[in-house]
Amino acid sequence: MKIKRQKQAKKTISFYKFNFSFREPFQILIDGTFCQAALKNKIQIKEQMPKYLMGEVQLCTTNCALKELETLGKELYGAKIILQRFQVRRCPHFKSPVPASECLLSMLEETNPHHYFVATQDHTVTAGLKKIPGVPLLYIILNTIVLDKPCKTSLDHVQAVQLGELVSPAQQQSIRSLKEEQGIAQKDGERRGKKRKRKQSNPNPLSCLKKKKKGVPTPSLKKTEQGQKRKRSRHKKQKDDMSAPVVTNT
Ligand SMILES: [Zn+2]
Repeated sequence: MKIKRQKQAKKTISFYKFNFSFREPFQILIDGTFCQAALKNKIQIKEQMPKYLMGEVQLCTTNCALKELETLGKELYGAKIILQRFQVRRCPHFKSPVPASECLLSMLEETNPHHYFVATQDHTVTAGLKKIPGVPLLYIILNTIVLDKPCKTSLDHVQAVQLGELVSPAQQQSIRSLKEEQGIAQKDGERRGKKRKRKQSNPNPLSCLKKKKKGVPTPSLKKTEQGQKRKRSRHKKQKDDMSAPVVTNT
């Protein structure tokens, strides 16, 4: 199971690397809910995350996420201790903090330009980030960190990009090929016409060759020999034809 989980993670990571230009160190945007779950399940985020993602990671959060944990009180004190160890990324809510879910989603903007992985147990964040293409989701289930498979939005986005890349050049190519085919067909026709003309003009190079042959003394002899041979063969054939019945008789 562990190997299977790791294999799936590898596959998913390479999907984001290839299609959304994710690079190490992976930026892991974490909120209080994830830290709380990690604490409950005795998961050391700092140790487990790079192992699971098979690469260097940078664990980070936002000021809003920290503020939210502070306001929620004693129950989440442990989670707050964990979360405040991580880098605090600037969010646009410095003066008036917003709920962590709202803040995290705002960090992703429309296309997740900073290539954040989001580590959360908050369904509001999960639902929200699944509307944005190219946002890997990490959550904790059954004592383990799980990297969610790419959501439909990401898959659709990749497909659209691929089609966008394939369709237009393909159409251009098909148009080109059609034009070329037509062009070739026209050229073929021209060539055929030219070839016919060339055939008419062909005797010239052939005659040149003949002249060359004539220029060489031996071919003339050969020709005479050939002629004699031909004559002989004809004679032989004639003789054979004539003598054939005689031979069979004797
Ligand atoms: Zn914020």
